[in-house]
Amino acid sequence: MTKSFASLSEIKREIAIGEVTVEKLVKGYLNKIASNTHLNAFNEVFENDALVSARNVDSRIKQGTAGKLAGMVIAIKDNICYKGHKVSASSKILQGFTSIYSSTVVERLLAEDAVIIGRCNCDEFGMGASNENSFYGPVKNAVDETRVAGGSSGGSAVAVQAGMCHAAIGTDTGGSVRQPASFCGIVGLKPTYGRISRHGIIAYASSFDQIGPITKSVEDAALLLEVMAGPDEYDSTLANVKVPSFAENIEKPGPKKIAYLQEALSSPGVDSEVKNALAKYIDKLRADGHTVKPIAFEYLDYIVPAYYILAMAEASSNLSRYDGVHYGYRSPAATDLVSTYKKSRSEGFGKEVKRRIMLGTFVLSAGYYDAYFAKAQKVRRLIREKTDAILKEYDFILIPTAPEPAFPLGRKEKDPVTTYLSDIFTVQASLTGVPAISLPAGNNNDGLPLGLQLLTRHFEEQELLNFSKYFLEL
Ligand code: GLN
Repeated sequence: MTKSFASLSEIKREIAIGEVTVEKLVKGYLNKIASNTHLNAFNEVFENDALVSARNVDSRIKQGTAGKLAGMVIAIKDNICYKGHKVSASSKILQGFTSIYSSTVVERLLAEDAVIIGRCNCDEFGMGASNENSFYGPVKNAVDETRVAGGSSGGSAVAVQAGMCHAAIGTDTGGSVRQPASFCGIVGLKPTYGRISRHGIIAYASSFDQIGPITKSVEDAALLLEVMAGPDEYDSTLANVKVPSFAENIEKPGPKKIAYLQEALSSPGVDSEVKNALAKYIDKLRADGHTVKPIAFEYLDYIVPAYYILAMAEASSNLSRYDGVHYGYRSPAATDLVSTYKKSRSEGFGKEVKRRIMLGTFVLSAGYYDAYFAKAQKVRRLIREKTDAILKEYDFILIPTAPEPAFPLGRKEKDPVTTYLSDIFTVQASLTGVPAISLPAGNNNDGLPLGLQLLTRHFEEQELLNFSKYFLEL
């Protein structure tokens, strides 16, 4: 029976008094994984590797040379490259592909003695919000197995939720760390765009993709962020800004100015218990001396369309590399170069991925570029300017993470647009690049977790983490 630890500092205390070893922890998580295979959270478990690394970390702890993540057993989303290990982005097209190098994040996590226990299921190439678009099947929510885990980092979130690892690393293009974290009752952080290297991450939409931690505590999110963040010669979009010791620096915040979206409380599209959770926190914050005011966001209707036009355009370009020649799957029916491309891509990609490649190609095509792609870029700029203006006046924006809690598996939407619209609250931070965190905010009457989200200014993760820790204790 493994004990469940809320944060790495608790684990470290137990290691220090000889109560537990990293090897014991790994064995406990492996047992948990084995008894929860029906949740489908992992695409592969690195059992032997994890045990060998755990023993190595244990001996470094004894020698006093262990790194700051010693005792942290993590899972990675299956779109993060780890040298010598398979990586598939949950797509048939990458079946059998092995990474020939490690992503910068994996290198940095290992250098600080994290143990990587496996790679987690996700929506194919990160495209989805329920983890149902995976070649390996959907992930089930451990709170209610008839419901989705959220997506696209659904496996990562459930791995943490169900105690199959201590923390997980996901990627967030339009909400994929935050929304599954909210569906699973845990913490999900999307750092500022340009904070963490994307080198070695399977690209979906490069101007949005960000790596983020999924954890049970704000302290662990802070610690993982500081280890993964900072300049990297392999990613030129990284900002050359100082990476503070986020975890050590967490302190109680003073009175803050917080804006919330009026529509989140009034729109019929938002579940009433999500509205109640938001209203409850607004009251608590006011009672505790903060200024909390409603704001209107006039571009709300354009957020989702702008995100999808741009994300699909970028995806259509990024995914052109899967041609049946360079990577993974090649159709056995291919007879020449063109049929290799056509058949490998038709058979290798799932339905949603193909839909997005086609739409992305369309919005970039000569006759439609100005009407769609260029226009969406202008809208993105307006959304960024408006968000910056709000954050000039307010310290944080408080909104739900998702309009509803985890929904039933297999719910068939009338059309994909309905599904896309459920990203309404997460894509603002993605379009603008600001950091955002999803925090657990209680459960609804059926016991399903609810999540609220805080957004703040670029590179002000320290303030975001300070306030988040305090928020969870409210
Ligand atoms: N649901 C969004 C999409 O399908 C976001 C996914 C993500 O962040 N990877 O694009």
